[in-house]
Amino acid sequence: MKNEEGGGILEGIFNFFLPQHCLVCGSYLSRSRGFPLCSACFSRIEYLRSPLCVKCGRPLPGSSALLCHHCRAFSFHFDSARAVALYTSPFRECIHAFKYQGFTSFRSLFGELLCEYLEKNPFLREVDFLLPVPLHPARFIERGFNQSLILAEEIKKCFSLPLVSKEVRRVKPTLPQVGLRFRERRKNMRGAFEIKENNLFQNKRVLIVDDVLTSRSTVDSLSQTLKKGGAKEVLVLALASGK
Ligand SMILES: [Zn+2]
Ligand SMILES: [Zn+2]
Repeated sequence: MKNEEGGGILEGIFNFFLPQHCLVCGSYLSRSRGFPLCSACFSRIEYLRSPLCVKCGRPLPGSSALLCHHCRAFSFHFDSARAVALYTSPFRECIHAFKYQGFTSFRSLFGELLCEYLEKNPFLREVDFLLPVPLHPARFIERGFNQSLILAEEIKKCFSLPLVSKEVRRVKPTLPQVGLRFRERRKNMRGAFEIKENNLFQNKRVLIVDDVLTSRSTVDSLSQTLKKGGAKEVLVLALASGK
């Protein structure tokens, strides 16, 4: 739910009691950038830099290997996945506030970070479509918005790429992934998505947009569906990734 300024109700309450304070450390913001994060907390965001696993984008511990141990053990259906930063504090708090507490003003920060990343990594934007990870309708009703769609809309503003969001749906109300092992997560996600329009992805390049990558089983299941639907290449870009 949104108030008149475009922020969520909780964000409105926060702004009423703590106007111009950093959401993470509480320090006073002398200059508002449109979202409640101070420059000291902003500078603590841990950007993902090489060496990264070429497949799933996880940081590699200074080795000369191309693939991480997950990608050596399992094969993912996407061609390449990347995330802007690690899912650690203070970025984690920002994403959490955006997703669960209605701090929608963070969309401008996230949009900026995603667009900067795509600017530096052109291979990820040489695609025919942007596809935000679909939410199951029940989850959508509960949350009121799809966070991945908001992120994809921000990317669309920078690069004018076509965005498809209604053509793929989530058909399985999957269990929360927290607490599940990697193999269980993959099993939990199997057959979770369905393409409504046949041939839409035939021979196309797609960039899946997600908020947080953990096991990558959600984007893997979606990639499998897209590849079955004829997609030529499936790439993934997320805001954050677990280690
Ligand atoms: Zn701060
Ligand atoms: Zn990997």
